[in-house]
Formats: sequence, structure tokens, C-alpha cells
Amino acid sequence: MKKRANKALELDDPLCCCEYVDRHGGRSHMAACCCDCEDLDEACDRWMKREPQNPDSLSRVAATVTDRLRVPWISGAKKVDLSLIPPLILLPILLHIAALHYLLGIIVLTALPGMVLWYYYFTHRKKGRTLFFLSLALFSLLYMYYLFLTEVMPRGDVTNLQLGIITLGVVLTLIALVHTKKGPGYVRPSPADTHSTVTYHSPPPDVDSAYHNGSRHQVVIANRTSPAEQGAEPRAVAGSVLEKDSSRRNWCPFCKLVQPPRAGHCRICGACVLRLDHHCVWINSCVGQANHRSFLLTLIFFLLTSLYGISLVLRSVCPTQSLLTALLYCPDVYSQSSSALCFTCAWYSSIVTGGLLHLLVLQLINVSYNVTEREARIALRDKTGRSLIWGLIIDTGVYSHGFRANWTEFLNMGETLEPKALKPTDLV
Ligand SMILES: [Zn+2]
Ligand SMILES: [Zn+2]
Repeated sequence: MKKRANKALELDDPLCCCEYVDRHGGRSHMAACCCDCEDLDEACDRWMKREPQNPDSLSRVAATVTDRLRVPWISGAKKVDLSLIPPLILLPILLHIAALHYLLGIIVLTALPGMVLWYYYFTHRKKGRTLFFLSLALFSLLYMYYLFLTEVMPRGDVTNLQLGIITLGVVLTLIALVHTKKGPGYVRPSPADTHSTVTYHSPPPDVDSAYHNGSRHQVVIANRTSPAEQGAEPRAVAGSVLEKDSSRRNWCPFCKLVQPPRAGHCRICGACVLRLDHHCVWINSCVGQANHRSFLLTLIFFLLTSLYGISLVLRSVCPTQSLLTALLYCPDVYSQSSSALCFTCAWYSSIVTGGLLHLLVLQLINVSYNVTEREARIALRDKTGRSLIWGLIIDTGVYSHGFRANWTEFLNMGETLEPKALKPTDLV
């Protein structure tokens, strides 16, 4: 009801860049962010009178604050997600603390990935959406570039060509990221799915649709390609039963549609994604059929830029040592605050690069075996795939057609999907 009223309000008199529709459905202005907050007044009143607070009054005040925290936008002021902010404040502070002394450096650079991992598992368990990781990833990239310009360049050891290569790397990473954010390729309901809402039920909880997607799909195809062994009528009946069974198993109760083979439902995005690989918190989006290639490209551009940047920084702050030795032992680096900060950032970048390099290796192996991250996880859980080299390689054997054919399929997938025009707000 409120939504419809807001729509009418917007159509009658469009919002200016500083106006917005607040959480109660009323029209508000950014300049009025401190006015007329009954919840805050009530909480202050109770605090002054030393009366106990209402149990939900603080959460109502927090909801009002987050609702009023906005930035001007063309079609009305946009809400700022609070999870964007901590990385912007914490990262520079922590890196500067770590640059004070090597012992502080060890503590901060050990605690920082630990805290990020803890927050990752915390949000992942709650299946909540957060912009914290995207903010941390983007800000880390841009902050490292800023420090390269302001701290490393003035030392005079980096040529303009080397700066140009680093700048090109940052730009290419951002372009590939924008492309990845265009979307993973969502499953669209077909007219046949309308019938499915009445007929089919959700699959049993102990059976995962992803694995059966693959095997069932193959059984149906096998039926179609062996006419000599079966008569026309039984074959049609068997095919129809199997297809119905397959549809029942591939039915998504959340999106109310039948998933095509290899599609999966993402509980964080709340949508079914074609050839779902995984939900990546660092880009705040799923990786699927439409954006898997650009996701890999983003990783590759980032890693190349980062490795080259680290090597330039270490050569500048520790010219007497070889690159690997410099990262472990660099005498007198803490004698100057500038060189200490550069060295700390080289270490921070190395930790991030190490994590992403591991992810890239896993992704390249998965593509070589034509397995998605989701299928590999399910095969491990159900013990249906071959696990090689301590679980680094998971071969389900369902879709693999050989190394070359798998890569050809990967590089050509997504060609048929409709490209989506990207709005600036889609980046988050
Ligand atoms: Zn779904
Ligand atoms: Zn997702």
C-alpha cells in the first residue's frame, strides 16, 4: 500500500536530488536529518529522567539514523550502507599503526586477516548481504595506488613507464570489475513454470538438485539418443516421466521456477543463477554463467598489477636485497616512517595477493575439469566426485569433455545471454 502511495507521489512530483521517501513512506529532505525524530527525543527524555529505555527504542533510533544517512542522487537521495564505512576508517589507521614498529606490524597484519575472516564467516552464516567486503576490496586497491603515488613515487626509483603500467593495471581491474557487476545471469521463469507451481513440490532435503541436475539431464539425453533399444511409445513415456522427475527435483521453491541444469539458488541474492559458481562477497554478487569470465579476468588483472606493484615497492625501499629476501628481511626499513609504511603496505598487499592467487588456482582447475565451485562442494559432501591432491582438484566427471573442450565451452558460454545496461548504482 505504502509502496503504491510512494509511486504515485514520485510520479506526481519527482524527487529532487536531496529528497527521498523515508522508511515511513513520507517525503523527506536531507537537510532535515536532525529534525523531528520522535524515537531519539523519547530515548533522550528517558535517559535524562534516568528511566529504563524501551527494549526496541535503540534499534528504532539506529533505523532512523541509517534511513537518514543519504547522499544526493539524480532521482532522489540514496541511502548509504553503513557497512561501507569501517574499511575507509580502519584500513589507513591500522596500516599506519603497523608501520610504527615491526612487532606492531606482525600483530596488526596477523589480526587484520583474522578479523576479516571472522566477519566473513559471521555474515556468511547469517546469509546476510553486506557491502563491507566490496568496500574493503575497492578501497584497498585505490588506497594502495594513492600511497604508491604519494609515498613511493617521490623516492625517485620508479620511472614514468612503470607508473603507467601500474595505472593501466588498476584501470583494467576496475573495468573488468564493472563488467563482472553487470550480473551473473539470472534464471527467468518460463511459461511452463506456472504449471509447476501447482504440480511440483520441493525436493527432499537430503537430495541436492545441483548434482542431480547433471546426472538427470544426461539420463534424459541418453533416452533420446538410443531409439533402437526402445519402442517409440515407452520411450516417450519414460522420457516424459524422467523429465517430470527432473523438473520436480530442479524446482526452486523460493523463485517458483524450474532451474535449468547447473543453475542454483543463491540465498544471499535471493535468486536462481545460471551455472552458479559461488556467491562472492568481495564483489557483492554471484558468479555465474554471464560473469564468470570477467570475474577471472578481474582476478588476473588485479594479481598482475599487485605483484608488479609489490616488486617495485620492495626494490625501492630495500634495493640491496633480492625480492623474496626483502619481504622477510629488510634492515633499517623502520628508520623512516615513509619506507616503513611502504614496507607494511607491501606486506598487506602480499597477504591479499596470496589469498587471491589461491582462489585463482582453484578457479583455473575447476574450469579445466568443467566443475563449478558449488558442484565441487556438493560432490565433496556427497562423496560423488574424485578428490585429487588433498582436495585441490575435485572431478565430478559429469560435464567434463577434456581440457581443451572444457576451456572452449567456458570461453564461449554467456555469449547468448542478453547484456544488461549497467546503472552507476549497480556497482554496489
Ligand atoms: Zn531460486
Ligand atoms: Zn548471490
